[in-house]
This record gives sequence, structure tokens and C-alpha cells, in this order.
Amino acid sequence: MGGDRRTFLKLALAAGSLAEGTRVAEAGEAPVAPAKVAWRRIATEEAFATPAQMEAMGALGRSTWNNPDLALWRSFTGSRGERMRLRRALLDITDERLADMDANGVDMHVLSLTSPGVQMFDAETAVRIAAEANDFLAGIIERHPGRFAGLAAFAPQDPAAAVREMERAVRELKLNGFILNSHTNNEYLDNPKYFPILEAAEALDRPIYIHPRCPSDLLVEGCREYGMTSGMWGFYAETSLHATRMLLSGVFDRFPRLKIVLGHMGEGLPYWLWRIGNIYDAFHPPGSATRLRTPPVEAFRRNFVITTSGVNDPDVLTYVIAKLGVENVMWAIDYPYERTAPAVRFMDSAPIPDADRRRIYQANAERVFHIGG
Ligand code: MN
Repeated sequence: MGGDRRTFLKLALAAGSLAEGTRVAEAGEAPVAPAKVAWRRIATEEAFATPAQMEAMGALGRSTWNNPDLALWRSFTGSRGERMRLRRALLDITDERLADMDANGVDMHVLSLTSPGVQMFDAETAVRIAAEANDFLAGIIERHPGRFAGLAAFAPQDPAAAVREMERAVRELKLNGFILNSHTNNEYLDNPKYFPILEAAEALDRPIYIHPRCPSDLLVEGCREYGMTSGMWGFYAETSLHATRMLLSGVFDRFPRLKIVLGHMGEGLPYWLWRIGNIYDAFHPPGSATRLRTPPVEAFRRNFVITTSGVNDPDVLTYVIAKLGVENVMWAIDYPYERTAPAVRFMDSAPIPDADRRRIYQANAERVFHIGG
């Protein structure tokens, strides 16, 4: 134990993440209390809930709808133990959350309404709860300068209303982008009915963060056993299906400046990129009539940025930097579902130059989300 602790301290000091004399926490989840560093730690996939969302999801949860997102929601919004902690942490912004940020040297949370956002509600309810959540976010950001940014929720169930809310969120509320929790009623953004949403995001020059939710009906059956509908597997299967449909449908020919953010180190897609390109080229060789102007691999490199949320694995980090370029990787915790200290310790000690650490912690988020300046 003592040896492990000394080894950790030595590694941490070598990485420049802890000042001499900083008390090293024994437990993996204790706060890091890191030394002052030459960059801001901006965490880009940090969840919150509003009372109205809680209430509306609770009402759906009491219905007979057998849906994995509702089961998941019940599992993390109960009134006892860890469930109670999550419920409290999702509803809290300025109490435990700010204290957790301060204790771990986290400068900013980019907040987003927690999955599945408003996407399970009827259109009218979804439009109302998204607007309320966006107003709430704007107020929080204004009252805590420099500590919070926010991604606007919108209701894909009503694309015209969604576009109006997206415009309001950027022009009036000064929010930093948009949050979408993958499918809406089993439909994906390659469906032309959603093109006005993509057009608005491109015109407003703000990214859409496609966050996971449990798999749609197109995918869910194979995930029902063994606890696979959420973070174990279903989340990445669902979200990578969504992104791949967009890449192959040609939406990035139509909206060449659209920016999409994926969490969880790219939901597996960086790993498959070479093979996707290889298969695409076999079926749609250069010069063929069916080949997109921007084939999927080129579109992924041009239109996508990824975050590290929930994946504190230095080997994956090294790989995605090599594959996508360090300018396309941002840091995230996935608070409150994941703990802050391990995410900070991971990025503080990652085997990369400090110039890259600064890009991943700060500069890329400032660019992608128009934070500061
Ligand atoms: Mn998340």
C-alpha cells in the first residue's frame, strides 16, 4: 500500500500535476486538490436535470411504457442511497457541484440537460421543458461568470419549434451549442424532417453534442439481457449507429460546416474508421456515381470532435489523438455519473506534452463552444 502510494506520488509529480507538499488522497475517488496549472480545466459533458424534467419523466415512468430509458431513469432518480445522491447531484448546480469543482481544480462545467433530455415527451411538453431548461442555464451562467457554459436543449418532435429555440438559445441566451440524446421516437438526424435543425446549427455556428440514450427499437432487443442497454454497451451501439447513419447519408455534403460532438472517446468510431473507409471505397470507389463528395472518413475528421467522458484510459487517448488530431479531442468528466477526481488525475497524468494537455483541457472547448472572448 505504502509502495503504491509512493509510486503514485512519484508519477503524479513527474507529470507536473501535484505541487510539492500536496496531500495525496489514499482513495481513488477523493478530491485531487491539484496545484495551479497553466490552463483552465473545462469539462464538456456535465449533466444536470430540472424539476420539470424530473416530474415529466417520473410521470412517464409510472406509465405502462416498457422502455429501457425509463427503467434507467428510475434506477438513478430513486430516493435512497446512491440513487438519492445522483438525483440530488443532477438537480444541484451551486452547492455540491461547485464544491466538487473547486476541490478538484475544475474551472468550468459545460452543462447539458441529462439524457434522454426532452425527447420522450409529447411535442408540446418537450418544447416547454426545453425552453425552461435553457432559461435556467442562462441564469446560472450569468450568476457564476467563468464557471459554467451550457448546451441548449430543443424538441426534435417539433422541428420548426426546435429551430426557433436554437436561434433564441444562441442569439438571446448566449448558450454554447446544443444537446441531443440520440434517437427521437426511433428516428435519427439523417431523416430529412430534421434537416432544418442541422441547417440551424450550421448557420448559428454551434455544435450539436450527440449524447447517448438507450438503444432505439431498431437496436434494443439484442441489448436487453446482461445489463447492456446503457453504459455497458447499448449507449455506444446506439450513438455510433446514429453518427454512422449521418456519415453515410450525405448530410455532411449538404451541411459541410455542421459540427457534431461525440462523447466517450467517439463512441467506438475512431477504432472502426479505417475499416469503414475501406468498405466504403470498395462499394463506392473514387469516380463512382454513388460516392459522396465527402466520404464518411473525411466527414468524420472534418465535422466531428470527440470528448473523453467516462473513458479515463491513456491508451485510448493516445490512439484518438493519433487518429483524429489533438485539436479534435476535449476533456469531460460525465458528472455526476462519473467521479471528478479520477478524470482529473487521468488527464493531468496522460502521457502527452503539456501543450496538448492545454488544448484538450481548454483551447479546443473554447473554440468549439465559443467560450470566452
Ligand atoms: Mn453523459
